[in-house]
Amino acid sequence: MKRLEAGVRDIPDYPSPGIQFKDITPLLADPVLFGAAVEALAAAHGPGSGAEVDVVAGIEARGFIFGAPVALALGVGFVPIRKKGKLPHTTVSAEYTLEYGTAVIEVHEDAVRPGQRVLLLDDVLATGGTAEAAAGLLEGLGAEVVALSFLAELGVLNGRERLAGRVVKSLLNY
Ligand code: IMP
Repeated sequence: MKRLEAGVRDIPDYPSPGIQFKDITPLLADPVLFGAAVEALAAAHGPGSGAEVDVVAGIEARGFIFGAPVALALGVGFVPIRKKGKLPHTTVSAEYTLEYGTAVIEVHEDAVRPGQRVLLLDDVLATGGTAEAAAGLLEGLGAEVVALSFLAELGVLNGRERLAGRVVKSLLNY
């Protein structure tokens, strides 16, 4: 996966001192790299993969950028998981901890049906708090989260441990 790595750059001290942020905007700006990432994320869930899904869910905001084209590549619909207060219909919500404080994410209560198989996507897996909350929302609605897939995983932060018992995949590992 050397090729994809070329589209991710480190931004030191963003958003706060001591944090090294993985900036994926160079990858998005390159249609070859962006297309390769979407293709790789979708390939694991294509027909005959044994891991087919009924719907793709993406976490605001960068999970939308990958989730929508992956859903179309798989021929399934897309469900947005959004920050508090952004969805217009009745929602279910989950609060989770950030490094400092808490955040809330929401999904429409009718976004997935019981038994539906969902691929959950985001750009980066860090501590796993966001993904854990998102998976919990979908599971709480009765859906089966077949896998959580990420463009990149910051292995040192052990997000996978927080998601233990679930299938977790990433194209790039740091
Ligand atoms: P977590 O909840 O700590 O796993 O953080 C994951 C969320 O924060 C995801 O929605 C990511 O988009 C975002 N995030 C955390 N670290 C980075 C990074 O280095 N680059 C891009 N996004 C990040």
